[in-house]
Amino acid sequence: MENIEKLIDKLCETSELTADEYKEILASSDHDEYLASKAREVAQRIFGKDVYIRGIIEFSNYCRNDCYYCGIRASNKYCERYRMTPDEIIRCADSGYDIGFRTFVLQSGEDLTYSTEDICNIVSSIKSRHPDCAVTLSIGEKSREEYQAYYDAGADRYLLRHETYNKDHYGMLHPDKMSWSSRIRCLYDLREIGYQTGCGIMVGTPGQTLDHVVEDLVFMKGFEPHMIGIGPFLPAANTPFADCPAGDVALTLRLLSVIRLMLPKVLLPATTALGTAEALGREKGILAGANVIMPNLSPVENRGKYQLYDGKICISDDASLCSRCISARLKSIGYQAVTGRGDHPDKAL
Ligand code: SAM
Repeated sequence: MENIEKLIDKLCETSELTADEYKEILASSDHDEYLASKAREVAQRIFGKDVYIRGIIEFSNYCRNDCYYCGIRASNKYCERYRMTPDEIIRCADSGYDIGFRTFVLQSGEDLTYSTEDICNIVSSIKSRHPDCAVTLSIGEKSREEYQAYYDAGADRYLLRHETYNKDHYGMLHPDKMSWSSRIRCLYDLREIGYQTGCGIMVGTPGQTLDHVVEDLVFMKGFEPHMIGIGPFLPAANTPFADCPAGDVALTLRLLSVIRLMLPKVLLPATTALGTAEALGREKGILAGANVIMPNLSPVENRGKYQLYDGKICISDDASLCSRCISARLKSIGYQAVTGRGDHPDKAL
């Protein structure tokens, strides 16, 4: 027991542990409050009590991929599809700007209807209308040339969860035509091009072991991403994993804390999935060391259709209500929502 607190202290001092040591911390719930308090301390030293707010625009739920866990997978014939026009996406960012957002996260399934030129035009329009804003893309696996084109058009950041660093586990979550190597290649391309790059995993996907999670930690420590998305796996109806149990919230929180101690400056969201798994999940995420929240800016009529998993929260409030709700939630735990660009400290303009 005491040993685990010593390991946590060692992680605070050196920002790195051995695989066995990470595993020991993750396997025990006895020191969760100690771990969270250390992670909070580190987050507050760097970011104070500021939490960065990003407006997420889920602009299309068409997807060519068939990930076994995902509610918008190509073969889910019960998923009601929608696709926003470039104009609608740009107007959505405009209205987000009016209520104070300074980062827009454009996310979608892998929808090939949008050409490279379309994405570049959307990005450059948003950037020229709002030069003080950052644009994050989260639109899946693309060629290096496409990533370069989006970057040249003004995209600042890219989120692409690696989902699992273990190749065999990756194969349990995805059909054969999707490849682990391609996903990892994308992450290295993104970082080399100059994006603030985000990777990440779901906690508790079917077949995931603690050893897999430790492999993810070791990979993330070496890769040094600017952002890390971590949320619990939540089952989605009409998918191969519909009847699988949800991921563990306590383990998710423990991981957020370990990641904060391992990569102190990383941008770490308290995810919507965490808030869906537990009513106060996002608040607990912030108190475990997270420093970002991504409220939904998508038009309300589409929100319920971007159903990656069942029971997703925030599908009926409009953007300004969502934003006020997040601010009030943060205030209730002594933090404040800040709407600046919120770059990674090493990439600040
Ligand atoms: N298509 C883009 C991509 O592949 O990165 C972005 C959209 S994708 C739906 C965004 C993320 O949602 C995935 O990386 C995955 O981790 C998460 N996700 C999908 N299904 C989920 C589920 N059932 N529970 C929790 N998270 C899920």
